[in-house]
Amino acid sequence: MTQHPPTGRVPDLLSAALSAAERGWNVFPLRPGDKRPALHGETACPGTGDCADGHRKWEQRATTDPDRIRGAWTAGAFNVGLATGPSGLVVVDLDPVKAKDPKGTPDGVTSLQALCERAGQVVPATYRTRTASGGHHLYFTAPPGVRLGNSAGKLGKHIDTRAHGGYVVAAGSTLPNGTYDVVDPTEPVPLPEWLHASLTHRQPSRALTAAPAPVRASRYAAAALRAETATVAGAGEGVRNWTLVRAARALGRFIPSGDLARTEVEQALNSAGLAAGLRENECRAAVASALNWSIANNPGRPA
Ligand SMILES: [Zn+2]
Repeated sequence: MTQHPPTGRVPDLLSAALSAAERGWNVFPLRPGDKRPALHGETACPGTGDCADGHRKWEQRATTDPDRIRGAWTAGAFNVGLATGPSGLVVVDLDPVKAKDPKGTPDGVTSLQALCERAGQVVPATYRTRTASGGHHLYFTAPPGVRLGNSAGKLGKHIDTRAHGGYVVAAGSTLPNGTYDVVDPTEPVPLPEWLHASLTHRQPSRALTAAPAPVRASRYAAAALRAETATVAGAGEGVRNWTLVRAARALGRFIPSGDLARTEVEQALNSAGLAAGLRENECRAAVASALNWSIANNPGRPA
């Protein structure tokens, strides 16, 4: 007897696919009891149907059309793949700790909590599913006018994101080790600007992330000032506010230690904010409050 993986029931999977499509999410079939696409790959393309004008992969074939969905899902117990890019979603994927991880490695939920705390934010409440392996998927609507791709570990340990070029397994799907369930059914909220900025932020060079020796602190602070102002000046419209706030918070810690003067930081950041297209009063207010926050949270080096 052939062994088949445990699968969900066809009516349940069809209804999961239809309810995802009702939310405007583009779905496509995944293999029964599996998370790989059920659609043929490019090398096996028959050149017919959807592929009559050339092969189309799952991202292009994913649909919200209920008739096409009914047609596909009555043919088998397919899990539901959700193409995040065409659905206008950014999904933050929080993975559990894996058996091979060193002891003490944080899981994705813990990493996101830490990321939020560092940013002075709360963990966003949005549509959320629990994955078969015990991870979590947080759904956000993608920022308008930008095309985000996938990321792996950029936001933190065991945090991936899926947007264009990516998909997630939707609620209602079944794998051998469990099911995908909705744990927060609310509509996805827009991707917070600070998270968007973290995704698009270029990693500072190692020289800037290493802890400075006190004697070189001023030179280090000057380099940080140059790097942060360059980042702010180059920030795009969707992320420039938060990029400015983050830069001010990062630089503010050099003020109590005496490595940078407040007026110097304010002038540099205000000019960079103006260069990025922010209004002068917006810059001044954002920089002042972020510096106050940073100074209050960084008491300075002991003498
Ligand atoms: Zn094809």
